[in-house]
Amino acid sequence: MGEMKAFVKVRPEPGGAEYLDWDVPNIGAGDVLIRVKAAGLCGTDMHLYEWPDNIVREYKPKLPVVMGHEFAGIVAEVGPEVKTVKAGDRVMVNPLLYCEECYFCKDGRQNICDNRPLLGLGADGAFAEFISVRSSNVHRLDDAVPFEVGALSELTCVGLHAIERARLTGGDTVAVVGAGPLGFIMAVLSLHSGAVRVFVTGLKTDRERLQLAGKIGAIPIIVEAEDPREQILEYTGGLGADVVFETAGAPSGVTQSLNLVRKGGRVGILGQGHEATEIPTAMLSFREIELVGTRAYTPREWQRVSAMLLNAQHDLSQTITRRLPLGKAEEGIKLMKGREGLKVMLLPEDEVR
Ligand SMILES: [Zn+2]
Ligand SMILES: [Zn+2]
Repeated sequence: MGEMKAFVKVRPEPGGAEYLDWDVPNIGAGDVLIRVKAAGLCGTDMHLYEWPDNIVREYKPKLPVVMGHEFAGIVAEVGPEVKTVKAGDRVMVNPLLYCEECYFCKDGRQNICDNRPLLGLGADGAFAEFISVRSSNVHRLDDAVPFEVGALSELTCVGLHAIERARLTGGDTVAVVGAGPLGFIMAVLSLHSGAVRVFVTGLKTDRERLQLAGKIGAIPIIVEAEDPREQILEYTGGLGADVVFETAGAPSGVTQSLNLVRKGGRVGILGQGHEATEIPTAMLSFREIELVGTRAYTPREWQRVSAMLLNAQHDLSQTITRRLPLGKAEEGIKLMKGREGLKVMLLPEDEVR
């Protein structure tokens, strides 16, 4: 096939990524060729770009690799065996290429599959004009949902999975620790899943992000300015939050989460910090707190995400604070590193200045 533009991690070193001419991917009999219409930059992309030791160890990227895994687009072509979508369909994609064979896949827990390369890391990703994906990972995107909200489907599935893992129930009070894109999405989804009150905690440097959280109906708390525990106890008659989502991935975030949750409450750990955290396990016992690890999503969340995208699209779209053409992916990564705004969305060259 022909050539296209792509943002590719080429060399195993910090930076080492380039905007290049690249072959349009071939499609196998069961694959779908998708023209990418919107692709979100995510922490994982930033890590792949910066190339710290733990990334190389944990993610095992295969270079050279086209980066990017959060996206939506239009089907350009399908292999002869594909029956579920056709050329011209609007689609979103589960970027986790779980093996379908291992114990966990067969148990419906594809998120913790033994062999689960991620698009943009273990296989060519979405920071390109085209991407080829196996059809079982491709899902229809509702006509009423814009492509850039479709590109938030992956993060939304992460959130839906966490909400199920932490058993959020109608009427719950929720605290979200961390005001980054994942924290923001957790606030949106909690409010759309029946939480009556959602607090979001962040640092002084997150002021702009916390303001956005306030705009969608959450209660922002700057931890240097006010004690989140006092505030939440006051709102809950001294009880604490029913559910806490830790999204910061920092030891202090875990400690804060345990301080905010009520007796008998649940703490969902989403943040993937690389530093160990000391936890007073006696407190877990005395207060009967459940600490729940939660990772990625299963096909079940992809079945359910359409309705959430449709209902919550206005709030979800607030996550997108910057739009750049694909050719400026590197600039986007630098913006992310500076914790400016929330999500950077990469769009086709001719659709944004
Ligand atoms: Zn991501
Ligand atoms: Zn598997």
